[in-house]
Amino acid sequence: MEAGKAYNYEVNGYDYELDTTDGSIDGYEENDDESYDEFHECYGDFDTTIVMYHGREYSCSVDDLGEFVWIDSEEMYYHESDVDRCPWCGEWFVKDDGHESELTGNCYCSEGCKEKAEDCYISENKQIELKAA
Ligand SMILES: [Zn+2]
Repeated sequence: MEAGKAYNYEVNGYDYELDTTDGSIDGYEENDDESYDEFHECYGDFDTTIVMYHGREYSCSVDDLGEFVWIDSEEMYYHESDVDRCPWCGEWFVKDDGHESELTGNCYCSEGCKEKAEDCYISENKQIELKAA
């Protein structure tokens, strides 16, 4: 009885310590249940994903990705102000990674698209020159 009591007490004490620790972690987890959307600076009950905005990563609610575009090649959401649509193939690409053509004045998703667009531009201009001549 005496030993059992001591044992129980010890176990209780140990459990209690665990509970205390868990309790404080639970306390934080209650806050974590409220996800933080860094981009919109708000807490809420939503799942978050990583988005890129002006070269920085932010967490963002998956329910609030209206301003973001999924970029296949990067496997990441980018802000619409950081991306452009390739005028040749129509794919979204990150502006910083764009291939700018001095010839057409446009920016393309890849070197391949740029070359094709330039070829097209050159042959079109030849036709215009021929017609003009
Ligand atoms: Zn393209």
